[in-house]
Amino acid sequence: MIDIRSVNKFYKTAIGDYHALSDVDLQIHAGEFVSIIGKSGSGKTTLLNMITGIDRPSNGEVWVNGTGVHGLNENQMARWRGKNLGVVFQFFQLLPMISVIENVMLPMDFCRMYTPSERRQRAMDLLELVELAEHANKLPTALSGGQQQRVAIARALANDPPVIIADEPTGNLDSKTAESVFALFNNLVDKGKTIIIVTHDSAMAKRTHRTALIADGEIVNEYVAKAMPTLSHTQLLQATKSAKALNFEPGAMILSEGTNADAFFIVSHGTVEVILPRPNQSDVIALQLGPGKVFGEMEFFHEKKHRASIRASEAGPVEVLAIGYDKLAELLEQSDVTREALKEMAGKHNGENLSWRGVSS
Ligand code: ADP
Ligand code: MG
Repeated sequence: MIDIRSVNKFYKTAIGDYHALSDVDLQIHAGEFVSIIGKSGSGKTTLLNMITGIDRPSNGEVWVNGTGVHGLNENQMARWRGKNLGVVFQFFQLLPMISVIENVMLPMDFCRMYTPSERRQRAMDLLELVELAEHANKLPTALSGGQQQRVAIARALANDPPVIIADEPTGNLDSKTAESVFALFNNLVDKGKTIIIVTHDSAMAKRTHRTALIADGEIVNEYVAKAMPTLSHTQLLQATKSAKALNFEPGAMILSEGTNADAFFIVSHGTVEVILPRPNQSDVIALQLGPGKVFGEMEFFHEKKHRASIRASEAGPVEVLAIGYDKLAELLEQSDVTREALKEMAGKHNGENLSWRGVSS
């Protein structure tokens, strides 16, 4: 549904170009509920603006629902956006001089969607959906913040767009009101909408299907983030940049027991099998590791020789991300918690490895 390809964005400033987005790639499927998180100033709004066409990439492509947004002129853009996207902002941005229901009708009027007589009924239905029908004829300022945001969501839905984009939609709401707005998004996902929200709230982000983390204008690999959740955003970005993607056919050997170990691996696609040989018996699949799971951490802390063979499962192709031990050492140098977490995992895997071998001896 959304395909962002090698997007760069430079802002012109008094002291030269500012690189706000750097080689951003992001794919979002129809029906996905995706959160974008990152520190203030990391480029979240800039990225959303590329999708909505509010701003343009300096280079790269943005495809939404089959349309190359980067190639539309201003006129085409406004119409295209009106029909294809619902946009929700942190500060609601309702027009203060017209009533709630007129705010909701505005996108339909602009895009000439539905007949004029249908528009009011549809706006009323949408206000009912967000439980504000009884406030239809009030001015927006007569409503609370949470209510105004729900009006903004009703407005975003006016032309029944397949995609909803929301920039910190709950950033200005108390937690209870934020929860009701989030529940509304969840309902819309159930109805098949594709939703992208920027949020500061990591607990809320965890409740979406998938989180994209942006740091210094670059996307952090989601499996790197999953594998080492205690690294800082900047460290995760370093890890992402140093990771090398390796691809394997189903059933292919990834590495063999006894060979020198020099990298830590994160599974990023498919499933790998950890295989242990047993004397006088057939090999055993000791463990299956899916996306976000790691191997090669045990050898980092112990003898640097592989203690098991790793194979791509027959079920499908596999991608793993390799981070060299020198780079891993550098990262762990900066994060004691991550070192401890990996060390603990290595200890656990070591114990399992020994007990499997014990079974076979
Ligand atoms: P976020 O939404 O993650 O807080 P933004 O996307 O708004 O971050 O901004 C990313 C960076 O780009 C920030 O350093 C910000 O100061 C800078 N920036 C944003 N808009 C402009 C602009 N129009 N001109 C110059 N710099 C900008
Ligand atoms: Mg922002």
